[in-house]
Amino acid sequence: MDTPLDLAGIGAGPFNLAVAALLHRQPLAYCFFDRKPSHSWHPGLMLPGAELQTSFLKDLVTPVDPTNPHSFLAYLVARRRFYDFLNADQKAVGRREFADYLGWVAGQLVDSNRLQMGSDVQEVRDRGDFFELELEVSGARKTVPTRNLCIAAGKEAYVPDCARPLLSDHCFHALETGLRQPKVEGRRVAVVGGGQTGAELVLNLLDGHWGKPQQVQWVSRRQNFLPLDESPFTNAWFTPDYVHVFHRLPALRREGLVEAQKLASDGISTTTLKALYQRFYQLVHLDGEGDRIVLLPGRELRDISRTGSYELGMFNSHAGELESCRADLIILCTGLREMLPDCLSTLRDRFAMDGRGRLVLSADFAADLQDAGERQVYVLGSGRYTHGIAEPQLSLAAWRAARVINDLMNRRIYDTGQAGGILQWSTREEMVSAVA
Ligand SMILES: Cc1cc2nc3c(=O)[nH]c(=O)nc-3n(C[C@H](O)[C@H](O)[C@H](O)COP(=O)(O)OP(=O)(O)OC[C@H]3O[C@@H](n4cnc5c(N)ncnc54)[C@H](O)[C@@H]3O)c2cc1C
Repeated sequence: MDTPLDLAGIGAGPFNLAVAALLHRQPLAYCFFDRKPSHSWHPGLMLPGAELQTSFLKDLVTPVDPTNPHSFLAYLVARRRFYDFLNADQKAVGRREFADYLGWVAGQLVDSNRLQMGSDVQEVRDRGDFFELELEVSGARKTVPTRNLCIAAGKEAYVPDCARPLLSDHCFHALETGLRQPKVEGRRVAVVGGGQTGAELVLNLLDGHWGKPQQVQWVSRRQNFLPLDESPFTNAWFTPDYVHVFHRLPALRREGLVEAQKLASDGISTTTLKALYQRFYQLVHLDGEGDRIVLLPGRELRDISRTGSYELGMFNSHAGELESCRADLIILCTGLREMLPDCLSTLRDRFAMDGRGRLVLSADFAADLQDAGERQVYVLGSGRYTHGIAEPQLSLAAWRAARVINDLMNRRIYDTGQAGGILQWSTREEMVSAVA
């Protein structure tokens, strides 16, 4: 039998790519597996004009290892566009370019046999001293033994119950938009969801990206189309210092904070809001086409029925009454949901969960798996309620990966602490005592 790996990674999205990129100088046997045949980053939402909501300096490695060859700056140099990039003086990097950067890193990891694309992890079995991954590779089965696991398998599309029976080419989750290329010419389109994805879709629909819709109706449960808070003090929630304190808070307090901080990660960027408002102004006042856009904030989707076209039943929380609108096509921008991937189903009952069925994660992102002994199972991107609102975001991807590596190696490979934070999140010594 093969010697077990020290670490196997399931998934090669940005979170696990960061771990793989930061492991490159370590004398470990490790390999990452991703089911996609080639690397891509949320291809269904690669819409024209979509921008990264995070600084390019918060790439896969720079925040903890600025000399790492997998940085965004190294990518710019390798692509021979460093000076042009600087001259372009962009406020934000396009999502398309960041996806290309991720693909460039993935390509290097593939070349050094640290990443295998087209490898779908079907099952993880516990063999006592090690885990055994069962992979499907080009239709064939293969097993890989490993002592430790790092899981960053992404999230699943959240579809409201009332929409589930109606899923089709005419009613689908936003993640599938690019793949379906919807035909909207002359049709009424309802976009459900008032976050960044909903905003980007409305903008692209009005710009005629998929044809000229007769009407776009934008439904949002929120009281208005609200901005992403990207101000300096709010950004302090996306720092190691804050996560360090947050993780030590009682569960109930963490829960309340996540809800209270929602708009720091789930609002619409100011650039997109301005572009939208200018587009609406043009439609209403200059083009005389105001009836092509219907903005419905403060509406919660309650039910959908189909009689030829769709009828969306909504509760208007401004007026306190039920309303409805009709559409020929519905795009659900209703977000993503954390999930444990199916391949872990045989281990599921052995993970410690909180009262709401969420994984309990250590400060170093290790799940608490009964009878795992010295073996570790790290889970990335699923700790919103253990590590705070930065957890599903790119902001701390490098730092998070460094924490995993330090824990795995049982020594400080990377310095994950920061010099004296500007904000005092707690004055209690046990809350703020030094980050390793
Ligand atoms: C459209 C969009 C834009 C975003 N933009 C930003 C942004 O600008 N800034 C920000 O901070 N955050 C952003 N996010 C949030 C977050 O950073 C991303 O979702 C990020 O991709 C999460 O990384 P991940 O590695 O956890 O998961 P993913 O990127 O979803 O990758 C998971 C990978 O796991 C693979 N996989 C799953 N199961 C298996 C299996 N059983 N076997 C093998 N492979 C498997 C999948 O094929 C996939 O490649 C965005 C999210 C979306 C949806």
